[in-house]
Amino acid sequence: MQLDTLWQFMQVDMEADGFEAKMRQSANRQKLLKQRDFLRDQQANMKKLENDVTVMQDRLAAVQDEADRLEKVLASLSEELENNPPATPEDVQKQSEAVRKLLDTLSRYEQELQKMRKDADTKDRQQKEIRVRAAKTKLEFDQLKLAYDKEFKEDTAKLQAMRANTEQEARKIEPKLLAKYRSIKQHCTPPMAKLINNQCSGCFMSLPSATLLDIRSGDRIVECDNCGRILYDAGE
Ligand SMILES: [Zn+2]
Repeated sequence: MQLDTLWQFMQVDMEADGFEAKMRQSANRQKLLKQRDFLRDQQANMKKLENDVTVMQDRLAAVQDEADRLEKVLASLSEELENNPPATPEDVQKQSEAVRKLLDTLSRYEQELQKMRKDADTKDRQQKEIRVRAAKTKLEFDQLKLAYDKEFKEDTAKLQAMRANTEQEARKIEPKLLAKYRSIKQHCTPPMAKLINNQCSGCFMSLPSATLLDIRSGDRIVECDNCGRILYDAGE
């Protein structure tokens, strides 16, 4: 008798558990989680790009400063040459060598600056793309969140009703038996199995005749030696 009630109770208990599991697997929920992860990734990408740009800007400013300084050196060197033209061919050679070196260095800096500006443009474009993508996803996320919140609220109410019903059914069961059911459920669910063809229908182990006798006598609760489920003889 007790086991009939427990079996009935298990049906509503399993139904509520199943519903809760379904809630967790909701398509909207899964999609929201994915979008949330995507937005987090984009934030991390943005942060990295911002750091890169900061480093690049510092470097750009430093190279620019150095180029400016060399321009000044070059200007004063030209002025010097105009005011005091070199007297000997050796001096001419020496001065033009110095000017050539300066111009070489300046041209190298200019190339580097150009490359850095191009890199900065690329990163700028990447940032814009990320912003657009993230904004689009955020919009979708917010809309989906609204739908999901509604779904979640309804499902939660439904689950609460199911759980309340389960609690009510639980009151019909002897507390010791219910405690046993719950402890088995910790490691094995559903925690009861019907006896079918002298087998435990939870793990399909054939039961020894002594166990079968025990079950049929109905004197005590018998658990499956193999899976630990409470064996239930529905008389089928
Ligand atoms: Zn079993």
